[in-house]
Amino acid sequence: MTSKDSAIGNGNAETDSAQYAAQYTVIIIGGGPAGLFCAIRAAGNNPRILVLEKMPSCGRKLCITGAGRCNLTHTGTMAEFTTHYGDGGKFLRPALMNFTSADLLAFFKDRGLSFVPDENGKYFPTEGNAKDVLSILLAECDRAGVEIRCEETIGAIEHTDGIFSVKTANDLYTTDHVVLATGGASYPVTGSTGDGYALAGKLGLPVTATGPALAAIIMRDYPFRDLTGISFDNVPLSLYRDNKKIREVTGDIILTVTGISGPGALHMSRYVLPGDSLHVGFVVGGDEEGARQKLTEAIADGKNRQVKTVLSEIEIPVRFLLSLLELSGIPRDATCAHLTKPDRNTLIRNLTDFPFTVAGTEGYATAMVTRGGVARDAIRQKTMEAKTVPGLFCIGEVADIDGDTGGYNLQAAFSTAALAADAIKLKLIGRNQ
Ligand SMILES: Cc1cc2nc3c(=O)[nH]c(=O)nc-3n(C[C@H](O)[C@H](O)[C@H](O)COP(=O)(O)OP(=O)(O)OC[C@H]3O[C@@H](n4cnc5c(N)ncnc54)[C@H](O)[C@@H]3O)c2cc1C
Repeated sequence: MTSKDSAIGNGNAETDSAQYAAQYTVIIIGGGPAGLFCAIRAAGNNPRILVLEKMPSCGRKLCITGAGRCNLTHTGTMAEFTTHYGDGGKFLRPALMNFTSADLLAFFKDRGLSFVPDENGKYFPTEGNAKDVLSILLAECDRAGVEIRCEETIGAIEHTDGIFSVKTANDLYTTDHVVLATGGASYPVTGSTGDGYALAGKLGLPVTATGPALAAIIMRDYPFRDLTGISFDNVPLSLYRDNKKIREVTGDIILTVTGISGPGALHMSRYVLPGDSLHVGFVVGGDEEGARQKLTEAIADGKNRQVKTVLSEIEIPVRFLLSLLELSGIPRDATCAHLTKPDRNTLIRNLTDFPFTVAGTEGYATAMVTRGGVARDAIRQKTMEAKTVPGLFCIGEVADIDGDTGGYNLQAAFSTAALAADAIKLKLIGRNQ
């Protein structure tokens, strides 16, 4: 019999678990940032830690974060961070307080990778990129003696008499603790295909409705198909459902073939549903009222000059203006003096509060995160352990946690990983006393 055989007996976990110690102290399912960091932090005092990753290599999504540059985290206090996760911010508070953005930056700085914030407060490596972030995580796993097995897809997890048996196509592993770090269902080519939801569900954990988030928004009857690539900085977006304003966001947007993308649109995509009305102000900087006043004054002062010339001077791209004049039923060579009051009002309304109807989002193929996941109610907020399955932890995006763009999702992955690792270490100390 090999040592592995002796650890897992004859493969019948129900009878074996009573007779044999588990083969591993911790099995982490998923080798993304959450899984790898949890492994590193839980290591020490020789626990046997195994990371099972279904892709040929770990951290594929991590490598494309921030367009390959990795926006690791953001400036601001941890209290401010909690406002960037929608309803999940309160739940995340203990994780963010236990392992802060300063702790995350220090972890990488101590290993030779420094980060600086850009003008929007997003931290990127000073030199280097997302692959360097992954290299550090893998080197630390190696140094800590963490075993990583790639191309291992989990078929089932069973929990009997306090021991988990984890079945893959190749093997059967037993362990005292399982950490689900399988990520969400977005950008599936990276390996994150939503497997964790089914695994958690089979272990009895509730999973809230999932959907793509931080994705480009597609509009019904979209009129700007030919204007792809025109962008607007720092513009207001307001979301209406049943004629009630339910969300306001300000940010940069870019027109696509089917709707809008860019940070402002991605942010808003977390909240939109088909049929919602999404109003966009296209006048750069300032609120709707200020923009209205600016346009009214520009047109009044414009006299015999063409409307398109006058308005292009307040940073509205001419091609976009021509399209909007046509949509507003105004001739493209109209002068300010000849604009009727109703025409002027229509034009100003379209420029400051253009009403799109949402068709949906671009979906999982290009979404940056998944909304929904293992229900927060089912997870202990201070440890990330499942309330009904002792020894099972859910970290990173597999849980019902999603944040704004800006480094908030990676910070949540690392902070929840740290919390689970610390809880596992405490359990092990308790067990060894
Ligand atoms: C294009 C893009 C850019 C992004 N940029 C940023 C950014 O700059 N900043 C930021 O904060 N966030 C960014 N995000 C979001 C961020 O990448 C994720 O929130 C983060 O990677 C989640 O980490 P995770 O470890 O929970 O999951 P993942 O990174 O998704 O890792 C999960 C791992 O589990 C593996 N796995 C899945 N199922 C199984 C299974 N059954 N068996 C074994 N292994 C399995 C997967 O292959 C994967 O390696 C971006 C996302 C995308 C798509």
